[in-house]
Amino acid sequence: MDGLHYELVRSSRRTLSVEVQPTGSIVVRCPHRMPLYEIERFLVMREAWINERLQDAEAKRSIIPQRTQPHHIYHRGEVLSWGWQNADVIVPQRLTTPEAAQKFVARWQRSEAESVFSKMIAQELPAIGVPGLRYQGLKLRRMKRRWGSCSSTGFITLNEHLIRVPDGCIRGVVVHELCHLVHLHHGAAFHHLVADVYPEHRMTDAILDAWTSVLHATEIDATADPTTKNGAPAS
Ligand SMILES: [Zn+2]
Repeated sequence: MDGLHYELVRSSRRTLSVEVQPTGSIVVRCPHRMPLYEIERFLVMREAWINERLQDAEAKRSIIPQRTQPHHIYHRGEVLSWGWQNADVIVPQRLTTPEAAQKFVARWQRSEAESVFSKMIAQELPAIGVPGLRYQGLKLRRMKRRWGSCSSTGFITLNEHLIRVPDGCIRGVVVHELCHLVHLHHGAAFHHLVADVYPEHRMTDAILDAWTSVLHATEIDATADPTTKNGAPAS
């Protein structure tokens, strides 16, 4: 595979593995003393698979707008700028340091998340019918590995980072979690209900999948608070 750039990570592992990351970088993991020719031979064997993954990652990235500046944030599927003037999100002048400004922007985004999510829940609850009465309230958390969860006690937890993705995708997650008020599992009945309430969910789930891989690669893992691991059941 001429010209294939990859990062080689040697460790005490016993086997060789290759991973194509959402960013398009390739990471090869191998045992400490494995000779380079063996690694190259392995990569040649997996060439078709690697190219397929690279194309898949590229296709996903291409539907996501580029965030090119540090003062750009993803918000409801768009790129917004923040700053003290001429920006989408205006930071008060009294906050002079970038750290204080970033905290302000994070708080603004969290309150946006709260109001957008609550509004969508209120809009979708009637479609859930009587079991929707079990709905007890919304909790926001920063989560690393999931967009939402529903507890058996009727609380919906949504990842506050969900405000970064397009509204259609947010609605898909909201409907998914509300449908768990009726079926606390991922069986056929659950999927029928989701499809009934939100027929567009297949498309928005695919788009969310693309956003998820890009956000994971670029920011979610870096910004999520590791102490807020979610231990709730069905997500
Ligand atoms: Zn679920």
